[in-house]
Amino acid sequence: MILRFSFNYLSSSLIYEKIILKTLALFSLDSKLVKNSDELLLYVNSDDSDELESFANRLSLELPHSIFLHNTDVKVVDEMPQESFILPNVPKLSMAFCPKCLREVMDEADENYYNIFHKCEVCGYDVEGEKKSYKEEFVNLAKSISSGLVAEVNTFYGKYYLGKIDKKCSDVDFDIVSYDLATLSHYTNATNSEIAALGAIEKPFVKLKTNIKFKMDFEDVADELIRFKLPDDFVLHLLLCELHKLGINLIFITKEKLLSDVKFDLVEYEKEQEPIEAVVGDNHIAIVRGEKGLPHQNLSNSNDLIPHIGAFFSVIKEHSLFDKTVAGLNISKEYHNNMLIYSKKFGTIEYLSFGFEFSSVKDVFDSIISSNESGKKLVENFKNKFPEHFEAISAIAFNEKEFNVYKLWGIVAIVLGYSKETNLTKAAKVLEESASLFLGTKGPRIDYKLKRVDSKVYIDPLMTIRTAMSFKLAGVDKLTLSYGVVESFVEFISSQFDDIKDEMKSDAVVATGSLLQNRHLFSKLSKEVSINHNLYFNKELPIDGKNILYGGNELF
Ligand SMILES: [Zn+2]
Repeated sequence: MILRFSFNYLSSSLIYEKIILKTLALFSLDSKLVKNSDELLLYVNSDDSDELESFANRLSLELPHSIFLHNTDVKVVDEMPQESFILPNVPKLSMAFCPKCLREVMDEADENYYNIFHKCEVCGYDVEGEKKSYKEEFVNLAKSISSGLVAEVNTFYGKYYLGKIDKKCSDVDFDIVSYDLATLSHYTNATNSEIAALGAIEKPFVKLKTNIKFKMDFEDVADELIRFKLPDDFVLHLLLCELHKLGINLIFITKEKLLSDVKFDLVEYEKEQEPIEAVVGDNHIAIVRGEKGLPHQNLSNSNDLIPHIGAFFSVIKEHSLFDKTVAGLNISKEYHNNMLIYSKKFGTIEYLSFGFEFSSVKDVFDSIISSNESGKKLVENFKNKFPEHFEAISAIAFNEKEFNVYKLWGIVAIVLGYSKETNLTKAAKVLEESASLFLGTKGPRIDYKLKRVDSKVYIDPLMTIRTAMSFKLAGVDKLTLSYGVVESFVEFISSQFDDIKDEMKSDAVVATGSLLQNRHLFSKLSKEVSINHNLYFNKELPIDGKNILYGGNELF
């Protein structure tokens, strides 16, 4: 009988390939491994069905979940393929522990029990050290932290300050490391997809809303999303294991220098690496920032392309979509935003621009007044209902080089009085955070409309601001209204993609830009757009990694 295991695996890290080959070596099965862009196919052939079964069981034990793994399947097939994959000789990536090494380090009878330097050809970091049990060191470190001390700790990829979540971390930007997934789901509103991603071998950070009751003078933190992860090296893992025995399942971790009482430097890491952060929808995962564990060869391969055609093309390249008609959404927080269409036949065109311009809030109000009678009335009502606020914000002048969707949200936040900031990016952040704190499922419908100027199509920013003002006048609260602003934008985008598909027969959709870091926007976009389209994000490149070089308009 021939079994075919297939993995839809969007990574060039070779982790799965290596583990599969390693596991195959334990059995004497006739086998072939085939790699087909994003598809990894393993064929095993044997007359002994018990052996096939025990291989399948062993493989599922050895293979970790990965954020790059999308689908798996096993099938009985008739034929073995001719060719077989040969492992290329590329440098190993810095990676958290694999299931096998973890089992050994946690096994009291194993020679690598509590040996932080244990690793294999698949996992671990490029750091050597004495092979011994470091149990005592971790017991002592856990005791210090449990007693309230802050520790300066060398992990395998950088120096961090960490300790119990209390007042000591209230002055710094911190993330949280959790002992296990059960603790994570207890203290956060993580979705099932987010929990699965957090447990993957890449151990990414995921930004989550938490119900941890922070102590006194520190409560404003509770209104923000905080980054959570599971331990991603043996230093953090063994520390959390010892802390768990003392009843502590969460610690804060920060790069910012804190007054520390304990130094823990068993590990002499050579190169600092930023851990990755991911944003997770039910159908897609994208990397927001970081580099640890991501293959580097991809970056250098696509570098020659970037300055000319930007983030959009880095996705087309990563997914080999050059022969398709591709519709693209480009929503950077800093730069020009647009929707693009690429096809081999006619090249790349800007389908719609999110560019606009205002000099001040007064300019916004004047434009609404002069647009029509109902606009004039709306501004009058707004002025009468919030006279002081109206007066105060009218004086705000904008100092922006480039207006985009995020800046439009900034204007909305200022006009609605959600932010005292005059900087549009900072004001937009307030709206974004309010939206993420909304616990309902549906916000009010905010208008995103288009207008034609000469032969080009632009977004009409006034319609968005106007509907937001109307809902504010109607008494809709801040969280609900903010949610509506973000939600309606995704619905607008989704229907634009539908129109493009009707008109241009596009067969793929690509989305890029730092605004995708927004958890709510990303998961909604992933869900809505996937209904009618094949949606692609950057695979192993950060969502916005390319925009720095791209910078906007040079394409057109
Ligand atoms: Zn390993």
